[in-house]
Amino acid sequence: MRNYLDFYLNGQWVHPENRQTLDVINPATEQVAGTISMGTSSDVDEAVKAAQEAFVTFSQTSQQERLDLLKAIAAEYKKKSTEIALAITEEMGAPKWLSESNQAASGYLHFKSAIQILQDFEFEFKQETSLIRKEPIGVCGFITPWNWPVNQIGCKLAPALATGCTVVWKPSEVAPFSAYLLMQVLHDAGVPKGVVNMINGDGPTVGSAISSHPDIQMVSFTGSTRAGIAVAEDAAPSIKRVTQELGGKSANIILDDLSAEDFAKAVAGGVKTMCVNSGQNCNAPSRMFVPESRLNEAEAVVKKTMEKLKVGEPDDALTFLGPVVSKLQWDRIQNLIQQGLDEGADVLVGGLGKPVGLNQGFYVKPTCFTRVRNDMKVARNEIFGPVLCLLPYASDDLAIQMANDNDYGLSGYVSGADKQRVYHVANQLRAGMIHINGAQMDRTAPFGGYKHSGNGRERGPQGFDEFLEIKALLGAG
Ligand code: NAD
Repeated sequence: MRNYLDFYLNGQWVHPENRQTLDVINPATEQVAGTISMGTSSDVDEAVKAAQEAFVTFSQTSQQERLDLLKAIAAEYKKKSTEIALAITEEMGAPKWLSESNQAASGYLHFKSAIQILQDFEFEFKQETSLIRKEPIGVCGFITPWNWPVNQIGCKLAPALATGCTVVWKPSEVAPFSAYLLMQVLHDAGVPKGVVNMINGDGPTVGSAISSHPDIQMVSFTGSTRAGIAVAEDAAPSIKRVTQELGGKSANIILDDLSAEDFAKAVAGGVKTMCVNSGQNCNAPSRMFVPESRLNEAEAVVKKTMEKLKVGEPDDALTFLGPVVSKLQWDRIQNLIQQGLDEGADVLVGGLGKPVGLNQGFYVKPTCFTRVRNDMKVARNEIFGPVLCLLPYASDDLAIQMANDNDYGLSGYVSGADKQRVYHVANQLRAGMIHINGAQMDRTAPFGGYKHSGNGRERGPQGFDEFLEIKALLGAG
């Protein structure tokens, strides 16, 4: 049992008295795995005060001092990486291999990447007769989700610290264990007091207190579009900067000029990318567009690939999909699968209910609907589970049109033999990141969405800019 009841305030762990507590459920066992305290708006006030005081000195540190700090964090992180991975598996059900090689590793990589960028980052440059300075924006509020818990905070914390900002952070109440360990990493690395403060709690209380706080200059949110809207509304009266990393329904367009072998590779790759992390990825390629003339071929590959993916306990090395995060999420996914059935979409693989033999734990059958129309709800709404839609298309232009005919625009995927044609399609997609011919994630490339998928970019030098104000010194150039 992990009883993580303390908050991290002004450089130390503080035990809040008389707070409600919340049980954290292990989704593989459905048992209580630990407890957290639920913060209040007065806890946020205290954290903001500490962050404001710390900003006075931290904002003035040199690039070298902040580089040294990031290097110390990376070193401490490495020591705790296995422990963090275990916590992630326990709190949100990712298979052990995924927690270690991707989930926990990604948090570390954001600090490594920030070190690299900070080394050459220009905070001051001449422009005609002026000197342009980039200055830390101030106290930043972070609100993060459960699906990639340390990845989502790493890509905020690393650039915030690199640029001299201070932080008040609310992790997801659904997956707070890894956050606690990461906070300990920062403490052990010697992050100065008040620079990062962490309070657990729910969205409407602690999240909203952060979004609306008059002394927070920027709020960076990752989560659902629903909560992202609430954050922006709460933030509006204090004119703070708001960045939002929200949901997605990303298109994966497979062009008709691929050889049978490459076509099969692209389709199978799309299925696996869709199902990894049990489909709980904001950038999941959940709409696969295949040429009408090759639909049967695509269906055969999807069926063969999906049926082979092992759903099972996170500890089992052969497991590809662990449980989804919670009963709430399991119910949502079931409802959305039912909606697909009601709309008349054909089930190619999977469907309702739990996989055979997995009665305990929030396990979902990897599912593919085929011959889906783009106006069906299963093709429009984010499902956030291992549910793929196969949509046939008649021409490249129609595929592009259907891909863009969606409220979301986070990522896209295009595969084809003719590079020019692939780039043409990629350039037409209204989304922030396009994977060309199965390219893997590049954690230094800017990540963020068009349309309802959000505002702003994380990662890379563009991610640094989100934490900086720009000052022009006229006559100083
Ligand atoms: P969620 O919106 O329910 O919760 C995310 C965070 O917001 C949590 O910390 C929660 O407590 C908080 N929150 C909830 N209501 C709030 C409110 N009114 N004000 C302030 N904070 C509030 O999302 P989730 O279920 O944790 O995560 C899944 C969603 O996150 C999916 O939609 C997914 O696509 C999205 N996501 C997006 C990205 C991205 O980078 N674009 C990455 C990961 C997840």
